[in-house]
Amino acid sequence: MASVETNLAHINQQINTACENSGRNPEEITIIAVTKYVSSQRAEEALHAGITNLGENRKEGLLEKYEVIGSQADWHFIGSLQSRKVKDVIDKISMIHSLDRKSLAKEINKRADHPIPCFIQVNVSGEESKHGLAPEEVIPFIDSLQNYKNVQAVGLMTMAPHIEDEEQLRGVFRKLRALRDTIRNKNYSHAPCEWLSMGMSNDFQLAVEEGATHIRIGSSLVGE
Ligand SMILES: *Cc1c(COP(=O)(O)O)cnc(C)c1O
Repeated sequence: MASVETNLAHINQQINTACENSGRNPEEITIIAVTKYVSSQRAEEALHAGITNLGENRKEGLLEKYEVIGSQADWHFIGSLQSRKVKDVIDKISMIHSLDRKSLAKEINKRADHPIPCFIQVNVSGEESKHGLAPEEVIPFIDSLQNYKNVQAVGLMTMAPHIEDEEQLRGVFRKLRALRDTIRNKNYSHAPCEWLSMGMSNDFQLAVEEGATHIRIGSSLVGE
C-alpha cells in the first residue's frame, strides 16, 4: 500500500489541475480523509502527512479512532446519523455532512452547546438507495431550521451515483451548486449555505471543477 504522503501528493496535483481548468484557487478546497475503511494507525499517518480533517460515517468508527487521535484532528461525521446517537458524537465532531431531517436537527440543537456547522444532504440523482432530501425539499427544510440556534446550515452535500459518464456526473454537481447559489442569495442568517461537500475518490476532480469546497476522499488517499 502506498504511503498516505504519496497518495496525497498525487491528489493535490489532481486538485491543482482541476483548479487550473476551472479558474479556481486550490486553497478554497478542504480535503477530508475518510478513514472508515482503515485503522487508527493509518489515520494517524494521514495526520503526519499534513491532513487535519478526518471523516467517519459511523458512530463506532468515530469513537474508536477518537480514543486514539482525539482533538488532534477535526472530525467530520459523513454518514447517516441516528438521532439517538447524536449525544455520543456531538462533542467530538466539528461538522456534520448528513443533515437530512427535522428530527435530527432537533436533536443536534438540543444536545450541542454551540452552533454546529451542518451540510444538508441532498439526493440530487434521485436514486432510491441514497439518503438525502429531494432538491425541492431543501428550501422548506432550511426555513424549518430557523429556531434551532445550534444548527448552522453551512452548505449542501451530495453523493454522486457510481457511473462513469462525465457529463452526467457534472450534471449532478451543477444541480447542487445551483441550489446552493439560490439559497445563499437568500442571505439567511441561520443558513449561510456557502459550501459544497461533493466529490469522492472517483469523481473529485470533476466535483472541484464544478465548485466543490469540501471533498471526501477515502480509498484513493488512505486506502480501502
Ligand atoms: C465512504 C465515503 C466517502 C469516501 O469514499 P471513497 O470512494 O473511498 O473516496 C465519501 N463520502 C461518504 C459519505 C462516504 O460514506
